[in-house]
Amino acid sequence: MSPPLVPDRVLSTLNADGSRRKINPRPAPGRFLRARRIVGYALIALFVSLPFIEIGGRPALLLDLVTRELSLFGLVFRPTDGFLLMLLGISIALTVFLVTALVGRAWCGWACPQTVYLEMVFRPIEQMLEGVHGQHKTRARSAAKWLIYAALAFALSNVFLAYFVGVKRLETWVIGSPAAHPGGFALVVGVAGLMLFDFGYFREQMCMVTCPYGRLQSVLLDKQSLIIGYDAKRGEPRGKAKRSLPVLASAPGDCVDCGACVAVCPTGIDIRDGLQMECVGCAQCIDVCDPIMDKLGRKRGLIAYTSQNILAGGKRHLLRARTIVYPLLLAICATLLVVAVAGRSATRVAVTRTSGPSFVELPSGLIASAVRIEIENESDAPRIYRVQVMNAPEATLRTPQDQWEVRARHTQTLPLFVDVPRTSFSGGKRSISLLVTDDAGFRRVLDVTLLGPS
Ligand code: SF4
Ligand code: SF4
Repeated sequence: MSPPLVPDRVLSTLNADGSRRKINPRPAPGRFLRARRIVGYALIALFVSLPFIEIGGRPALLLDLVTRELSLFGLVFRPTDGFLLMLLGISIALTVFLVTALVGRAWCGWACPQTVYLEMVFRPIEQMLEGVHGQHKTRARSAAKWLIYAALAFALSNVFLAYFVGVKRLETWVIGSPAAHPGGFALVVGVAGLMLFDFGYFREQMCMVTCPYGRLQSVLLDKQSLIIGYDAKRGEPRGKAKRSLPVLASAPGDCVDCGACVAVCPTGIDIRDGLQMECVGCAQCIDVCDPIMDKLGRKRGLIAYTSQNILAGGKRHLLRARTIVYPLLLAICATLLVVAVAGRSATRVAVTRTSGPSFVELPSGLIASAVRIEIENESDAPRIYRVQVMNAPEATLRTPQDQWEVRARHTQTLPLFVDVPRTSFSGGKRSISLLVTDDAGFRRVLDVTLLGPS
């Protein structure tokens, strides 16, 4: 017989005709679900409160899209901090690589907002109102569910946007009339709509179709990484067994083929088919299988946190190439980041090009060369800046004012003239040093080339 052209199963969430198979996982109370709930609700509390927590007068975490600044636990990164942002990005990526190499997809099952909100908030509400398999579903219950979902999505959308526009700006959107902030209101409603779509309908498809992390699993995991796995050597051949039979050599394996591990899986897979991209590491299959083993008087752990190497009969080794190289690279990047941040000045100065003539001859015979200095005050307070000529007694700095106040997080350009004798130019150029200082102890010497007559 020739093999079928269309395989029986392509995705756990697809029916044979290609339509979507809705997954209604039955919650399996157990030690991991209890622990995941504690972690999940703590993370939700953190997510909701983080935009309101201030460190050093700034939000603990804010990626301000308007000012294009990233506030991160008291540190501020701006687009001009390209090197620091690169180090930060590499450090985050290395942390993800290291954590995945060590504990597999613990992030997906325990801490990812998609899992946390879906499994700890949205799905429980649905199962409470409509029943686990929709057995209590009525129009009124369905309407109540979507009403609660919409309110939650709207609230979450506000919290989510607080990370990008800041609590104060969001407050004006929330308190003010939508007509006064149509853009902001549209953004809140748009994000709420996306959340409603995701948590109400799209659900596991987000992990299976959209999120790239699961697809990277085959690259990021190795045979020693922590995974949730089924011990086929112990479980197979699966089959119904009586409590009195397990010790007999002819008895089937420990798996009684009850299907409970499939029924509780939020992505609808069968862990007994081996490690799969769809497994989000939620440990629900462990929570459901362990009590079955207890009832049968068999050892727990037919499904367990394990590694591919252990399942193949070997041992798990913590030390291996990637668990040595990743931390080393991470330590180097983190050290560079800390040093660069510590040595960073709150002021940036630069000499910029002048528009118009670069010098004029004064009636006194001196040459007045134009210089423009751009000062960026990156601190959170206004600062007073002064400029003076260094080591050139024949040069005079002419400025409209003695000092400049530059507002917090603002850039100002200072138009200056340096008057020097015509004879001090060589080939139409003359070098000079300008000292820029501020009232907070900043001090920077700028080497400037004056242009003059050749
Ligand atoms: S829950 Fe355990 S015993 Fe039941 S089918 Fe899954 S692996 Fe087998
Ligand atoms: S196979 Fe087990 S750990 Fe993986 S997603 Fe399904 S229930 Fe969760």
